[in-house]
Amino acid sequence: MTERLYYTDSYAVTFTARVVERLTVAGRPALVLDRSCFYPTSGGQPYDTGRLNGVPVEEVIVRDSDGAVMHLLAADMDGEAVSGEIDWPRRFDHMQHHTGQHILTGAFLQEVGARTVSFHLGSEVCTIDLDRAGLSAMDIEAAEAAANAVVTRDLPVRAWFPAADELADLALRKLPAVEGRLRVVEIDGFDLTACGGTHVARTGEIGLIKVIRAEKYKDMMRVEFLCGGRARRDYAEKNALLLGLAADLTTSYREIGASIERLRAENKSLASDLRAARGQLLAAEADALWAASAPAGGLRVIARAWADRDPADLRTLAGRLIEQPGTVALLGLAGEKTQLIMARSADRPELDMVALLRGTVAALSGEGSGRGGGRPDFAQGGGGPADTARLQAVLDAAASRLGGA
Ligand SMILES: [Zn+2]
Repeated sequence: MTERLYYTDSYAVTFTARVVERLTVAGRPALVLDRSCFYPTSGGQPYDTGRLNGVPVEEVIVRDSDGAVMHLLAADMDGEAVSGEIDWPRRFDHMQHHTGQHILTGAFLQEVGARTVSFHLGSEVCTIDLDRAGLSAMDIEAAEAAANAVVTRDLPVRAWFPAADELADLALRKLPAVEGRLRVVEIDGFDLTACGGTHVARTGEIGLIKVIRAEKYKDMMRVEFLCGGRARRDYAEKNALLLGLAADLTTSYREIGASIERLRAENKSLASDLRAARGQLLAAEADALWAASAPAGGLRVIARAWADRDPADLRTLAGRLIEQPGTVALLGLAGEKTQLIMARSADRPELDMVALLRGTVAALSGEGSGRGGGRPDFAQGGGGPADTARLQAVLDAAASRLGGA
């Protein structure tokens, strides 16, 4: 078994050790040492990174069978004696968040009676899951304030392995199911729990505990929080974002919400004006198309192809055109996929637009290809590629089949 040096000193960064076993884990060379400062992934806290004889340590895990700490290396390494070094910024970040978690967990229990069910310390996100789904924003604020009061009081944090008789007298918040000796972590006068992780020596080193999100998760409350340097960076990022938005909106950051509300209302009103204006334009365009068409045999046929247009425009134009009696609209959009609309006014029930459309699609794309359907007075469909000139010719041919212009 590896002697875990971080149990007695979580601030130790360098150490020397002997190799007691060489193995391959997940295709990577790995070492078991007689002693190590490297923290292996466990108890919600991720592993330390660092170097052994200059070779990067990529992951550190515990072997279930005997508790040996396995250091997974970026490359093979010779020699029996190793000198190791852990990455301190990463370790200290974990120490701040792990101690911060104890405090936040203790604060939620004391302030609102919510128990922590699980804890996750990630590289981006740190969370605790509480056994109460219905916590209010006020509850969360109360717990956060109590947690930060513990930081401000700069209480000593002690971790040790109590003897059996001492352990029996300790009122632990949590009793984990671990074999062997139990390690206890005490935040002086505030919280006492069993934990194998790495912690700061005094709560003041955490700097800040900030809840950044809380949401229902199953029948629990998931509380996302940040401590220390990560909380400060998060603050800096959000501050920069807010100041940037405020500058874009030429307002102060406190007025951003009101500015966005105004922009939304303005946008809604503009969109409504635009819809009305487009409707008027399309109506005028339809009227002009109708006026320019020549009646033949009591029927006006408007056959027209476009490219690069909103298909909805064609439906609107067709709808407007066939409000006039004795009118047929044969409208098309050219391109990689042609789109067709064929519609007629209600007073000409003898004209079947579905049949005309299917014949036209077949002329455009060949028998059996293309698609189309609808009602006898309003049919839509499409076919293969065609340019505007070809589509216009096909629509003109369809118009002449109707006996119109
Ligand atoms: Zn802990």
